[in-house]
Amino acid sequence: MDYPGNLFVVAAPSGAGKSSLVKALLQIDSHLDVSISHTTREPRGQEQEGREYHFIDHDTFKAKIAAGDFFEWAEVHGHLYGTSRVAIEERIAGGQDVVLEIDWQGALQIKKIFPNAMLVFVLPPSWEELAQRLNRRGEDRPEVIAKRLSNARVEVAQARHFDFVIINALFESAVFDLKTVVHSQRLKYAAQLRSKPAVFRALDLG
Ligand code: 5GP
Repeated sequence: MDYPGNLFVVAAPSGAGKSSLVKALLQIDSHLDVSISHTTREPRGQEQEGREYHFIDHDTFKAKIAAGDFFEWAEVHGHLYGTSRVAIEERIAGGQDVVLEIDWQGALQIKKIFPNAMLVFVLPPSWEELAQRLNRRGEDRPEVIAKRLSNARVEVAQARHFDFVIINALFESAVFDLKTVVHSQRLKYAAQLRSKPAVFRALDLG
């Protein structure tokens, strides 16, 4: 599918700082929109319906799968998460760039549907630092943190399938790295051709 907008997919084990990185990127990049996923998990802390997620129950989620409403969906940490078609298709068709914050399974599904999608994996600098960050966050119960840490081993092993890897040791450097990935993707010949066909036509290119 050759849409004028670019699709970026950012994955990471929880605690690696993915959400903060994407939030920082959105603040400095007005051409980028984030896609709000659907999930069956309960809201955490200050989370609000329609801001971090659309929170729906299991039956509604299953009905959406059956209706073909999701581009991809996956079970992560015992809950269902999915990216709805409407969340991205209209926007990239209209030339808007979209970033998805999803898990590795969803990222690999998206790459099959959109081969132009850029997959970015965010790694923590070490296992110790990841554990400290999850504990510091204070949002989850100890058994939930333990589960997330053991899942992180499986998740991190998937980084090899991604186009880019960002090691989030120093937050500001990682934001810069993410911004660089997004910017360089936009400058690729094929991406420029997709987003500015009139310029290419005028120059007898394309
Ligand atoms: P959390 O519950 O911590 O918000 O998210 C748990 C994991 O699910 C994270 O890795 C997050 O990126 C992932 N996730 C969030 N939305 C989606 C989605 O729409 N699809 C998939 N495959 N994973 C998602």
